[in-house]
Amino acid sequence: MNRPQLSSKDIIGLFDRYVIGNYRRFPVALVRGEGVYVWDAEGNRYLDLFPGWGCNLLGHCPPRVVEAVREQVGRLIHVPNTWYTELQGLWAQALSERSFGGQAFFCNSGTEANEAAIKLVRLHSPKGRYKIITFEGGFHGRTLGSLSATAQPKYHEGLGPLLPGFVYCPFGDLDAVAKAIDTETAAIMVEPIQGEGGVVLPPDGFLAGLRQLADRHNLLLVFDEVQTGCGRTGHWFGYQYFGVTPDIMTLAKSLCGGLAGGAMLAKPEIAASLRPGMHASTFGGNPIAAAAGLATIEMIEKENLLEKAKHISAVFRQRLEELKKTCPIVREVRIAGLMIGIELTLEGAPVVDACLRRGLLINCTHNTVIRLLPAMIMNDDQVHEGCDILADVLAAYAAGRLESAGKP
Ligand SMILES: *Cc1c(COP(=O)(O)O)cnc(C)c1O
Repeated sequence: MNRPQLSSKDIIGLFDRYVIGNYRRFPVALVRGEGVYVWDAEGNRYLDLFPGWGCNLLGHCPPRVVEAVREQVGRLIHVPNTWYTELQGLWAQALSERSFGGQAFFCNSGTEANEAAIKLVRLHSPKGRYKIITFEGGFHGRTLGSLSATAQPKYHEGLGPLLPGFVYCPFGDLDAVAKAIDTETAAIMVEPIQGEGGVVLPPDGFLAGLRQLADRHNLLLVFDEVQTGCGRTGHWFGYQYFGVTPDIMTLAKSLCGGLAGGAMLAKPEIAASLRPGMHASTFGGNPIAAAAGLATIEMIEKENLLEKAKHISAVFRQRLEELKKTCPIVREVRIAGLMIGIELTLEGAPVVDACLRRGLLINCTHNTVIRLLPAMIMNDDQVHEGCDILADVLAAYAAGRLESAGKP
């Protein structure tokens, strides 16, 4: 393939002219990834502690996924859901057997998985019950249904009117949820751990309390596991980390080892309410996504990555707890498996920029929270390499020695 090799500057020029500017991007074009590292067009290497915005939980270009996709792409790329395919069936089985025995609907992204869940809630609930309780600081996606479920005003600006029927409660406040339930309430929808909202862990007993309220009032409990699912917490799914089982669960991000793919799993008696013609996705569950999804599960099991994730998590915890003791601008460290939030007393953006200049990729969410979503395949040295850079940068920031952000 004779593709021209452009510099980062040239590539940014193309974007400035031809790509809609709806993203804030770092002034770097990435061209290659392998494991925990990515390379830019100039050949610089970066250690990636936020690979693929949580999608690359297996690291960049995981060999088993690459192989499975290479194999499948020459055999059958796409057929519509008017046909059966072995891979989609096996993929659904694999997900069902590792979770609560549900049935799957496949789509291509997290927001679509949540749209499916919202529709299923409305279809399954008795007439007149349509309201869904969701939580402040939550994030469920950008399409209008999922956006309406997202109780963060900053994402709603200028987009109203939103889809009616969502009721927002403070995350962690069971009394508020109990008060919000009325005769029109159909479901409670929640991220087991709020991701975009700043890696916020649920208070003890909160998810179990939601389960009890749902059971008492005959509501469906929906877990948005787009970020917490597929091994992120060191368990297959976040609900297993907390020991509270939902009725419906949505997945995407790392579901297909870095390829686009989403799914909704629902208990069979609930899933039955989604009948032919009621919902669809042209590319949902396509053979490439299914091959990648199956290879992802296989890789996690063959390489014992759930256990590995727990180990890496412990190494991060030890380093970051230490950092909290020594660095005055670290307010709190929150860790669940490979979901890591470091809350600062200051804005996090300058830290992200300084780490980039030092060859380390991280994220900042909710203004002050440094977020790491590391890959399960890291070794201890790589964890230390990342933590060393981060500790250096934070120390410089605390001492007021951080050069101002080199924004484009
Ligand atoms: C990222 C995310 C979504 C949206 O997923 P997309 O694939 O971007 O549509 C939904 N819910 C949660 C919890 C997420 O983290």
